Formats: sequence, structure tokens, C-alpha cells
Amino acid sequence: MSLLEPFDRYPLTFGKTPIEHLPRLSKELGGKVEFYAKREDCNSGLAMGGNKLRKLEYIVPDAIASGADTLVSIGGVQSNHTRMVAATAAKLGMKCVVIQEKWVPHFDAVYDRVGNIQMTRLMGADSRLVDDGFDIGIRKSWEDAIQSVKDAGGKPYPIPAGASVHKFGALGYVGFAEEVAEQEAELGFTFDYIVVCVVTGSTQGGMIVGFAAQDRADRVIGIDASGTVEQTREQVRGIVDNTAELIGLGRAVREDEIVINPDYAYPAYGVPSDETNDAIRLAARTEAMITDPVYEGKSMQGMIDLTRKGFFPEGSKVLYAHLGGAPALNGYSYHYKDG
Ligand SMILES: *Cc1c(COP(=O)(O)O)cnc(C)c1O
Repeated sequence: MSLLEPFDRYPLTFGKTPIEHLPRLSKELGGKVEFYAKREDCNSGLAMGGNKLRKLEYIVPDAIASGADTLVSIGGVQSNHTRMVAATAAKLGMKCVVIQEKWVPHFDAVYDRVGNIQMTRLMGADSRLVDDGFDIGIRKSWEDAIQSVKDAGGKPYPIPAGASVHKFGALGYVGFAEEVAEQEAELGFTFDYIVVCVVTGSTQGGMIVGFAAQDRADRVIGIDASGTVEQTREQVRGIVDNTAELIGLGRAVREDEIVINPDYAYPAYGVPSDETNDAIRLAARTEAMITDPVYEGKSMQGMIDLTRKGFFPEGSKVLYAHLGGAPALNGYSYHYKDG
């Protein structure tokens, strides 16, 4: 029986996401480890989908029950999360206010007009650009936005950055772990490792709790893309503890079950290194799998580098969680003008 049985879910996704074998990438990386991708980036028809929708499915019932008429959230200028909150609001017939902070030191001429923010505006969200820098915590700009909805006579429903520090924010990725186990039964083998990008923490946090119930949480390799790994780790810890309690895991999750690698976030959140860009090109050229310079390019870089360093024993099967994010590429046209 699913650990999520007691919780309401409002469907925003197509259902189980496909697991795709990546034979050309596997061969390119030496052929001793087999790579697969779980395509969370293809999970919905809502504005190109992505990991935030799996989280929002467990938050929406609470938003509806609260009687709110406006979803209020926060992210960077090219936030996938605010795009997904705007999509959810449009689908529910609610209003939406999103704060978009200057999290990334980036100066592409159309950065604040294309990709995620373009879609966010198209879906009718009130997108407010503010000057504050990167921080995954609770922000004053977000609290001000919540107050502004109240002042205008509306009823806001606050959703924190990445939908992470929300009571129900990690439930969706507990479900991911259960879904992987079901798909493994169909495939006839199990994965030895799961590689996932981590920033605000509820994606990996949910996976850790879900896989802890299967006694293999330490096989979830988080690749930090925040560049502020201590804050991210602390946030994951809190999310794990809250979620383990919420679903009745029945035991505490140990520190060694929370694995976060800090080595690939350089030079900063939202800024790809040369190695990030090489990883993006390799995934694109071997598997036509598009990853972005903020998140998935960095977890792809980490997976490639760890493979080359022999981290995964020969014969391992590695599942790359592709969380979405490709729309941000539009804001980075200069990096890839020559491919
Ligand atoms: C939000 C996001 C992440 C990070 O997930 P968290 O739950 O914030 O740690 C990774 N990849 C993409 C594409 C995202 O949008």
C-alpha cells in the first residue's frame, strides 16, 4: 500500500513518467555503467511540465480547501517553479502573483522576456521583478506580495520557493520512489543509484523519505546546484524529518542517508561552467536529451564526472532524474550561439 494513501492529490500530471534507456550516453561514458532517465521533464501538458508539478499535486487540495483565490510564490527571473505555479493557477481558475528575484548574475539581453518568464506572463500571472539576490529561504519580498493580495481584498495561498518548505511539499517525491519500485518490477531489474539535482530540497528530500521506506535512501545522489550547499543540506534535513513524520515512516532518517555532492555548482547558482556546458552538449548529442544551464546541466555534469572517476561500480544501473528546466535555455542564447 502506498504511503501516500491518506493524502489528497489533485492531478496535474499525465501519470507515471517514462523511464528511458540512454544507450549512446552509456557507451560514450565507457559502457561499464548503464544509464537511464526518468523523464519528469515530460510529465504534463501544463506549460511544459517539470518536477514542481509533482509537488504541487499534493499542495493544491490544501489551497482549494483554504478558500484562496490567489496563489503567491517566488523564484528567480528564469524560475521553472513560478512558471509551474502560474500554470496551476490558470488550470484552477485562480489568480497568481509571483515574485521574480535577480538570483542569477546574468546579462543576456532578453533574459527577463523569454523562456519561463514569458510563459508565466502568458498564463496571466502578475510577475513582479525585484532586485534581491539568491537565497532559498523565506523572503521579505514574498511576504510583501502576500500582504499586497490581502490589501487588495484577495485571499492569498502562499507557496514558498520551489514549493519546498511547505508541509506537503515533499509528498510528490515520496511517490516518485514508489513509482520507481513499481517500474523496476515491470523492467525486471533494480537501479543501483538515482542521480538528482538539488537546490530548495523537497525533490531530493521526498525521494530520500520514499527510498528510506525501501532501505536505499543512501543511493540517492544529490548534486547541489545552489552553490550554498550547507543551507541546502540543512533545508533537506528539515524537509526529510517533517515528511518522515507526516507519512509515518516509523524511524528517523540517518545523516548518512542524505547524500549531497557540492562539487558541481561552481561558479555560482544559475551560471554554467565550461564543464556544465560540455555535459549539456553530450546529453543533447548522444540522446537528444535537453538539459539546462541552471539545474539539470549540473546534475548531468556530476553524473558524467562521477562515472569517469569510477564512483559507480562496474555493472551499475544509474537512474538520472530529469526534472525539467529546458525553457531557461532561451535566456542563455549567447552561451550556445555556436552549439
Ligand atoms: C526546482 C528544480 C530543481 C531543484 O529541485 P528542488 O526541489 O528545488 O531541490 C532541479 N531541476 C529543475 C529543472 C528545477 O526546476
